[in-house]
Amino acid sequence: MIEFANVTKTYQPGQPAVENLNLRIDTGKITVFVGPSGCGKTTSLRMINRMVEPSSGTITVGGRNISTIAAPALRRSMGYVMQSAGLLPHRTVMDNVTTVLRLNRVPRPAARRRAAELLDTVGLSAALGRRYPNQLSGGQQQRVGVARALAADPPVLLMDEPFSAVDPVVRAELQQELLRLQRDLAKTIVFVTHDIDEATLLGDKVAVFATGGRVAQYAAPEEILRAPVDDFVAAFVGRDRGFRHLSFDAGASVPVHPAPTVPYPGAPSSGGWALAVDAGNRPLGWLAPGTGDPLRPGGSLFRAGDSLRNALDAALSSPSGLGVAVDAAGGVIGVVRAPEVLAAIDAARASRNEPKARR
Ligand code: ADP
Ligand code: MG
Repeated sequence: MIEFANVTKTYQPGQPAVENLNLRIDTGKITVFVGPSGCGKTTSLRMINRMVEPSSGTITVGGRNISTIAAPALRRSMGYVMQSAGLLPHRTVMDNVTTVLRLNRVPRPAARRRAAELLDTVGLSAALGRRYPNQLSGGQQQRVGVARALAADPPVLLMDEPFSAVDPVVRAELQQELLRLQRDLAKTIVFVTHDIDEATLLGDKVAVFATGGRVAQYAAPEEILRAPVDDFVAAFVGRDRGFRHLSFDAGASVPVHPAPTVPYPGAPSSGGWALAVDAGNRPLGWLAPGTGDPLRPGGSLFRAGDSLRNALDAALSSPSGLGVAVDAAGGVIGVVRAPEVLAAIDAARASRNEPKARR
């Protein structure tokens, strides 16, 4: 069991990213952290493997205070998968998966056998092992990321929006694969997402995070859907619930604003969030206000003609709160704002309900 006791993390004085977190994570189950962007999900996840140190409070794993465990040893016992698969670009898929094993001094032939098994486990053919990451689709890269995280057979798997940047069809496949894997592996999985559907599908338990790193509700998914504890949870759950029926409504009614793009690499941003683009005006990620690197992964994209659901997903998954709209060629055409997408959803819902009300 992983336990947070009175854990607070403050990066900037007066604005806790995570405030007084108390949470028990069950062994062998999937626990999901869900909530809008910026509410402290990633920070909470990264405190589990000491990529981020708490400002106060304690985290224990199997009863041991993790601040007493050397960070490298702790991390070896926890696989980590992130939104951009984080693969080493100049190494083959096989080498990406075997790297962890080689670090653990597994002899090369055994490491290669195990890597081939792992690729099979995540649904990839062994032949893909010879390719480089940029020769794979986004969904395949995420599968390699999962294979690599499983390589050392760690009891704990930390997953930070692993499926957020792939399209909805592939995302659904990856979700089913994860559930299938988990039936065999029974790892302790902590999974971060901004998508309430994904949370309720995957989670044995779901923690709904609200702004300021406060957990508003922690319960089984059915309970969160049936009995949200407060207005925040009701809005977060209910909004998407009403929204599910609108998946096929075109997002054409959502205003698209000019995007604050900057060439990357290039001049640092001034003022607010800046969207880094390549020479073809394709999005690369976000730069936080007043900072250069690191580039933050951008979340899902809203393609011209997509549904309102995709527009909302893009806005909620973006670190800047601005969803990136792209044309058919993948070039940036602008940004959408979550409140405006929600207004468009309300309008679509109202116009749908109107004929019924008149009857
Ligand atoms: P989430 O994963 O839910 O989007 P994060 O944990 O990434 O949220 O961020 C929570 C808050 O902490 C945000 O306001 C974010 O800007 C801030 N934050 C995150 N990482 C850092 C950092 N390294 N330095 C300063 N502020 C940070
Ligand atoms: Mg995050």
